[in-house]
Amino acid sequence: MHGKIVCIGQNYWEHIKELHNEVPVEPVIFLKPASSLISDGEEIVIPAGLGRVDHEVELALVIGTAGKNLSGLDALKHVSHLAVFNDVTARDMQNAARKAGMPWALAKGLDTFAPMSAPISFERGMELDNLDLLLTVNGEVRQKGTTADMIHNSAVLIAYVSKWMRLEPGDIIATGTPKGVSPLHPGDVVEASIPGVGRVRNRVHGL
Ligand code: MG
Repeated sequence: MHGKIVCIGQNYWEHIKELHNEVPVEPVIFLKPASSLISDGEEIVIPAGLGRVDHEVELALVIGTAGKNLSGLDALKHVSHLAVFNDVTARDMQNAARKAGMPWALAKGLDTFAPMSAPISFERGMELDNLDLLLTVNGEVRQKGTTADMIHNSAVLIAYVSKWMRLEPGDIIATGTPKGVSPLHPGDVVEASIPGVGRVRNRVHGL
């Protein structure tokens, strides 16, 4: 079972630019509920009237052992599995909340808005800072990036999060998305992948 899903926002320069956001000094943290998770092959369901909904391919780290106040050196020892994550986002809803100075939890937390691939076990020595991220919609490439372009890398992120929130087995950390986010429409097939880690493919269903 999965616990909390800790997401990192604005962790790639080019993505910050495309959303016209300010560059954050420290990692931007938000949560998605575990109830938003779906697997490969399940449908992303977009309620009517929601406005723009974007895909965001991300590397996900699954926590294997509990930890608090971890150092960067110890952080990766607490990761048991890796997965590909699609941080589906109700962008219009998020922007409206931002503008009003209100939380945008709902924009990120809808049911089915967290597709994740079957986790693979994280072996010691696996390089996390040089993984390719790819996302296609109906076979057309929309996002192509590398974890080498992260502002804060995986080890730094785990250490940072664990300073404030105790990490528990089954927790997921989604590490942010590179540039190229774009809207999804009913009938689209979106596939997020990381070579060597996996892929998650989902059809979009509009209500
Ligand atoms: Mg994201």
